[in-house]
Amino acid sequence: MNKTLSNRINNLSESQTLAMARLSRELQAEGKDVISLSIGEPDFNTPDFIKDAAKKALDENYTHYTPVPGYLELRQAISKKFKRDNKLDYSPEQIVVSTGAKHSLTNLALSILNPGDEVILLAPYWVSYIEMIKIAEATPVLISSSISTDFKVTPAQIKAAITPKTRMLWFSSPCNPSGSVYTKEELFEIAQLLKNYPDIIIVSDEIYEHINFIGKHESIAQFDFINEQVVTINGVSKGFAMTGWRIGYIGAPKWIADACTKMQGQFTSGTCSIAQKAAQAALEADASVVSEMVIAFEKRRNLVFSLLSEIPGLVLNEPKGAFYFFPDVSAYFGKSYKNTTITNSSDLCMFLLNEGLIALVSGDAFGNPECLRLSYAASEEVLTEAIKRMKNTLALLC
Ligand code: PMP
Ligand code: GLU
Repeated sequence: MNKTLSNRINNLSESQTLAMARLSRELQAEGKDVISLSIGEPDFNTPDFIKDAAKKALDENYTHYTPVPGYLELRQAISKKFKRDNKLDYSPEQIVVSTGAKHSLTNLALSILNPGDEVILLAPYWVSYIEMIKIAEATPVLISSSISTDFKVTPAQIKAAITPKTRMLWFSSPCNPSGSVYTKEELFEIAQLLKNYPDIIIVSDEIYEHINFIGKHESIAQFDFINEQVVTINGVSKGFAMTGWRIGYIGAPKWIADACTKMQGQFTSGTCSIAQKAAQAALEADASVVSEMVIAFEKRRNLVFSLLSEIPGLVLNEPKGAFYFFPDVSAYFGKSYKNTTITNSSDLCMFLLNEGLIALVSGDAFGNPECLRLSYAASEEVLTEAIKRMKNTLALLC
């Protein structure tokens, strides 16, 4: 039998976040006491009022195919949420609900990009962006940043990366993996630059909107002079602890929303009916329903910051949002233990897993090979034990 796979799938890398989570589960199944801080997923359960809305939807027989872009009532709730929380005007016709923000982003890549188009990624970037862009046969163009600039890029760097082929620019704020948050002033400057390039579409991934420790969330689409160029991505996975429900959405200029709906109509149709009704309840509630989780995340951020600061050789920024640390671990490159020499962050990741039973994700998956990502979406007890293991295991290297 011919088992040749498509070039498309052969050229695709496995998601490193999911791969490390899988590896941790496999080792746990073998009886190994692995602590996994690899996947970015709130450890909280979905709030009861959201689960109640799902139960009600089942009882009311919301069990049929849904409209491709999502139930109108959900899109109305999202439209109100955009207005209430972000001061953004997106009518329900400009909103498309998909099977997670991951699907929203894939729809966008497949609907907008042509082979040869360039997409600027502000590095470090979320692991799946680059692969989605490759699936669409476009070319990712990376702009680097480091801890010295709190992992943010400047408008001058963006300007230098723009070419006549640039079609999109993708970024997340709060950022996965660095936890950095672009301020309103910084977003304004980027918007001012990009208004000079009206054919460039800005993809603003705001899925960590609620997990922000420095105050109000800022959306780049708030600047009227640029909003025709912006697609705002959001979803309920992170803010409402609803990762398994698979609901993400976009607010976009109508021509883009229409294209994504057409794409989705051939791939998945409208997403799960019950999950949509649950998401509607989440988004109609005041954002204060998530404040307890945010307080817990901030406490954990502070704890992890102080514990990681005690590990020699790690260089840290103080994350302002999301639930990740992205320390620079390059001081360990070139060091050895027994027969193992660490040459890069993937080696270090495997060393920490095998010797320390702690699962993190290598920074190269996020466009920065000097760093490692640690998700602190775990209890304080687990985090304390995990960082103790990390410290002891790193101390073996010399
Ligand atoms: N964007 C970013 C920055 C993320 O971290 C995630 C988490 N997986 C997603 C998008 C996708 O989220 P989901 O598909 O669960 O809505
Ligand atoms: N966004 C999460 C992460 O970065 C979930 C895993 C994934 O979908 O990649 O870990």
